[in-house]
Amino acid sequence: CGIVGYVGHRQALDVVLDGLRRLEYRGYDSAGVALLDGKNSLAVERAAGALANLENRVAEVGRERFEGTAGMGHTRWATHGAPTDRNAHPHQDPTGRVAVVHNGIIENFAALRAELEAAGGELASDTDSETAAHLVAAAYEHGSTAGDLPASVRAVVRRLEGAFTLVVTHADEPDTIVAARRSSPLVLGVGEGETFLASDVAAFIEHTREAVELGQDQVVTITREGYRVTDFGGDEVETRPFTVDWDL
Ligand code: GLU
Repeated sequence: CGIVGYVGHRQALDVVLDGLRRLEYRGYDSAGVALLDGKNSLAVERAAGALANLENRVAEVGRERFEGTAGMGHTRWATHGAPTDRNAHPHQDPTGRVAVVHNGIIENFAALRAELEAAGGELASDTDSETAAHLVAAAYEHGSTAGDLPASVRAVVRRLEGAFTLVVTHADEPDTIVAARRSSPLVLGVGEGETFLASDVAAFIEHTREAVELGQDQVVTITREGYRVTDFGGDEVETRPFTVDWDL
């Protein structure tokens, strides 16, 4: 339902939780965050119910575990799987190196799930979304996309049917977030030494008004320095930056 991503110089947990709060008006049943600590580890927490449940969970685990200047968050409106903790996003691969948040529906998830299970994979949730985390992790491990997160995401989204905004982090890529969209919104916010992504400009408008709307079937890689957009095949595409000049 709602998505926020951030790579910059502030504590990402604050930026992400604040962004999620600004997207609450859309409605949701669960929420979660994934933080990159800059030292190749990924901290994930999620909880069914209000954002306050997630914040309490983070406080229980210890806020220091969620320090870092890159991260992402999600508010879920369940379509596949009950609104429970284990179905809340982010979803991860079995090694926990990859985290994915997803808006929309992956129509061919049953076939993808069967393929993963046939290969010995165990899924930890009832969602359509978790399949994407397993597939990205495998693409990053093996073959021509190994070690290349944008290429891994492109290879996976080419296999997905349906409507989706996917945002992906990998513990081995602490300064990068990769996102893709098809028939579901995704917009970038471009600041000074910080880059945002969200399902709605409301999530970052207090930080920057320089925005870029992603087009259909595009993949974006964001870093502190900016962003790079390609199509699903990897060819660079021109973007359409705009200034958000209205008030919220
Ligand atoms: N289909 C996904 C799920 O049920 C994502 C729902 C959403 O857009 O929040 O978990």
